[in-house]
Amino acid sequence: MRAVLSIGSNLEDRVALLDSVFAEFADQIVASSPVYATPPWGVEDQEEFLNAVLVVEVPETPLQLLRRGQALEAAAQRVRLRHWGPRTLDVDIVQVEGVESNNPELTLPHPFAEKRAFVLVPWLSADPQAKLGERPVSALIAELDPAEVAAVRELGRMEDLR
Ligand code: ADP
Ligand code: MG
Repeated sequence: MRAVLSIGSNLEDRVALLDSVFAEFADQIVASSPVYATPPWGVEDQEEFLNAVLVVEVPETPLQLLRRGQALEAAAQRVRLRHWGPRTLDVDIVQVEGVESNNPELTLPHPFAEKRAFVLVPWLSADPQAKLGERPVSALIAELDPAEVAAVRELGRMEDLR
């Protein structure tokens, strides 16, 4: 099963937290984006987010993949207890090829993905042919506020940030 994961962190140890997801899926990553920085809106005393997108090929069902992501989030929560910060690690399933679901526990495609520059911009970078359902991701990006798209800033490849 091929799935698209959007991962984000705005804790101090953001690169390491994102890297825990790269490590978990090491042998199953088909394509990965660089790491991007997304400035927080509104709340100024909040660190910027780091975001990336992974395209993975895994043997699990969608719900099993969700559990795998949640286990990584739980491991990151342990880090959070020793630090401050509003968000440690978020692992969202943007899309599973050929699967639609209205289950609130796992809605597919992810309902907000098509409106979020920090999902779409990295995804297009990982896969220039990417489609959300029938729609090219490039077309979805063209519909977003250009300022929001420009604010998603490429930092570099994970292997260079470690
Ligand atoms: P958010 O990602 O919206 O900021 P959370 O990470 O706390 O918030 O997720 C809240 C809930 O969203 C989770 O308990 C999960 O079951 C549910 N959920 C529904 N669809 C998805 C999806 N496609 N990927 C990840 N979580 C999802
Ligand atoms: Mg989430």
